[in-house]
Formats: sequence, structure tokens, C-alpha cells
Amino acid sequence: MTFELGMTVDQSDPVGEALRGQVPIVQIQIGDPQSWKAPKLGFEDGPEALREQAERAGVGIYVHAPYVINVASTNNRIRIPSRKILQQHVSAAAAIGARGVIVHGGHVTANDDPAQGYVNWFKAVDGLRLECPILIENTAGGSHAMARYLDSIGRLWEQLAKASDFDQVGFCLDTCHAHASGEELTGIVERARAITGRIDLVHLNDSRDVAGSGADRHTHLGQGQIDPDLLVEVVKQADAPTILETHGSIEDQAADVAWLRQRL
Ligand SMILES: [Zn+2]
Repeated sequence: MTFELGMTVDQSDPVGEALRGQVPIVQIQIGDPQSWKAPKLGFEDGPEALREQAERAGVGIYVHAPYVINVASTNNRIRIPSRKILQQHVSAAAAIGARGVIVHGGHVTANDDPAQGYVNWFKAVDGLRLECPILIENTAGGSHAMARYLDSIGRLWEQLAKASDFDQVGFCLDTCHAHASGEELTGIVERARAITGRIDLVHLNDSRDVAGSGADRHTHLGQGQIDPDLLVEVVKQADAPTILETHGSIEDQAADVAWLRQRL
């Protein structure tokens, strides 16, 4: 099978890192993932130069949005800045020619009607200028998350289908998150696709925690709690670009690349 496998790298030299790691795609973060600040590109020569360099080298770049973003929130002081920095990241990603911006599903709180969270997602997407697609990622935990379970992802997609630019909304399936969420990994690609109609990206990670733990702790392939055969099955069935988020250096992630290639 031919599919693109890539790594998570620093934004200072994404193309160089891709070439060093011998992978066709990479994922970066533009700025501090834990901060509400506007994205700040760490590539010294600027967005246009990065775009050209990536094109010339044939390297695809994905951008992960900050983790603080929660467009589902019923709290204005979270929802409004979330929309703002998501738009800023979409624009920054478009400027470097990125393939997509990965964003977590977010959550409401115990006192909220979950329906409001899905409506907030619709409003956010409907109001975004999607110069670059957004890829909504399933998350691991929380009792009031918008994209932890396939059922909730179904409710989310029902709302998003009404948004303008819905064709610019994709889905990112994270294996660690799915395992930790309590969803069965066997056949998950087919079940997810039945809901979203698409899997644009796989985040391929093992999980340090047991199924259903709700914990978001990635680890290297084969070193966690996920049955290795199921990781391979997801990759085969998704047949989509796949990014490792197993952390560490290029060499650490190269071991994951080798682990997977050996099993395919
Ligand atoms: Zn992920």
C-alpha cells in the first residue's frame, strides 16, 4: 500500500526535518500550543519562503492548532478567543501552503446542554474563512466532550453539515485518543467513515493507558496498551496520510516508522 507517513517536528525547519527523517509529510505547531497568543511562525525566512521550500521538496505540512482552543464552550471568554485564534491559525497555515489545521473537538461543562456545544461548533465553522481545511480530531477524555465518542462525532457532523465551507471540514482519527476514549478500535475506521464520510488524517500513537481510561498520554508504537495488530489495521483501513505524535527526536520517531513499515 502507498500512503504518506510523517512525523511531528519543530516549526523552525520543517522541510529540513522531513528530509532528514525521510518522510513526505510533517506536522508542526505555529507558536505556543498552550497559549492564547496569535500564531508566530518560527521559520526565519517567513511564510512564503517556507511554502516554496515545501513545494520544491514535495513535503506536505500539517499544522496542529493550540490545545486551548474550545469553540464549543458556552463561556464567551473561551469561545470567542478560540474562534479568533483558530482563524489566525487557518490563515497562517494557508500562508505556508499547509494541507490542513488539526483542531480538537472541545467540550462543554456539566451544567451545559451538550446540544449548545454542537451549535457553537456550527457557528464557529460557519463564521470561519477556511482558506485551509480544518481537520477535527477525536479526543480521549472528559464527560462532556464534543468528539470523544463516535456518537458525539455524529451529532457534531450533523450540525457542521449545515455550515458554509463544510467541504473544507475534515476528520482526523487519533488511535491513542480512540483507545483511551473507550471506543473499540476494531473496525473503527469503517464506523468513523460511516459518520464523517472521510478520514483525512490519522494520528498514529500508542497509548500509555488502558482502554477507556480517558487519559491522553501517547507513546511509541508497540510500547503501549494498544494491540499492535489494531494499530496496523487502522492504518491499512484508513489508507490516509498518517502522522506520528509519539514525541521525541527524528530518530525516536524513525523507530516508529520502521516499526510500522515492517508490519505493512
Ligand atoms: Zn493527535
